[in-house]
Amino acid sequence: MSQNLANPLPPSSTIGILGGGQLGRMLAIAAAEMGMRAHIFAPESEPPAAAVAHAHTRAAFTDAPALRAFAAATDTITYEFENIPPDALRDIAVDTPLRPSLRSLEMTQDRLAEKQFLNALHLPTAPFAPFADAASLAEALHTTGLPAIVKTRRLGYDGKGQYRLRSEADIPAALHALNGQDAIAEGVVDFSAECALALARREDAATAAFPLTETFHENGILRRALAPADMHPALQARAEEMTAAIADALGHIGVLTAEFFLLGERQSGANAAARLLVNEVAPRVHNSAHWTLEACAVSQFAQHIRAVSGWPLGETRARFPVEMRNLLGDESADWRALAAAPDASLHLYGKAESRPGRKMGHITMRRSLPA
Ligand code: ATP
Ligand code: MG
Repeated sequence: MSQNLANPLPPSSTIGILGGGQLGRMLAIAAAEMGMRAHIFAPESEPPAAAVAHAHTRAAFTDAPALRAFAAATDTITYEFENIPPDALRDIAVDTPLRPSLRSLEMTQDRLAEKQFLNALHLPTAPFAPFADAASLAEALHTTGLPAIVKTRRLGYDGKGQYRLRSEADIPAALHALNGQDAIAEGVVDFSAECALALARREDAATAAFPLTETFHENGILRRALAPADMHPALQARAEEMTAAIADALGHIGVLTAEFFLLGERQSGANAAARLLVNEVAPRVHNSAHWTLEACAVSQFAQHIRAVSGWPLGETRARFPVEMRNLLGDESADWRALAAAPDASLHLYGKAESRPGRKMGHITMRRSLPA
């Protein structure tokens, strides 16, 4: 079914969601709150999203007949993660709108294509170079400098598929760890802070940006987020401008998130354009903006469903400052104590198995502004 903005998807429509993790779960809940139905497409038997959805198709992302049946049963299709093989989606995107489109998916599932795309838009990134073997990796390190990080081009998340190099002596170990996967080398950025910005874009190019969020990673995994980021307003403005440029260039529909490295002084607005480097782009809702569930009138999840459904975009202002903490692995076993914390909202994702570093839930707390 095709739709345009003059003809938004009405309540009772069905949103197809590719992927069944916690992002799909929170999208499904947001859809339900808007009177819509969510239909999850995911290969797992009991993915977190299916527990709160109207329907679940359990099939592989390469199963063309299952995807066609899924498309026939839904009014628009979206995705909650970017590591979906695009080939099988080409067919279904013809009859049922895929929002965001394949272009957003393809551009963000390959780190090399993504960085080249960003640089073509004149958006700075860490120095990077692809390589194929020991000789070309040594060459790549001339571009990136040392220390460097090698990252697989595809399928990385939460710091998986990344290896640090302090010197050329680390090349053999890095190549061994990569085990033949395509990869790029990236210079290690000496950032003063990391931050992320989630922005929604509709088909008519209207956009709405959430406040800049400061992010803290440990071992490549998001640990905490503070919002709004305690940074100069010019940095917020520049991050919005950069994220909107990315979304516009992709013709993106839905929420898109850019992760940034900040160089230098956070309270200075000087030279903002040169001091924000894009780390990576996610064509979707993002862990760094989970706090919008409590602090915004319309959360990032509701905003995404609005954007892909042609609804008006909601207000994005933070009504109060917040801190979000991820609950990794066994940390969620403390749910009793976490649930008893004052003025805190506990979210558990219903994952059956806890593994070290696995995102099991998060907690959002109101925070007082620094004096
Ligand atoms: P996710 O998709 O979950 O954000 P990922 O596996 O794609 O994670 P990255 O965003 O590439 O990982 O890296 C995770 C974290 O590792 C970054 O947020 C940052 O803290 C650190 N990191 C990655 N690349 C660099 C770099 N070039 N310089 C400095 N730190 C880096
Ligand atoms: Mg990242």
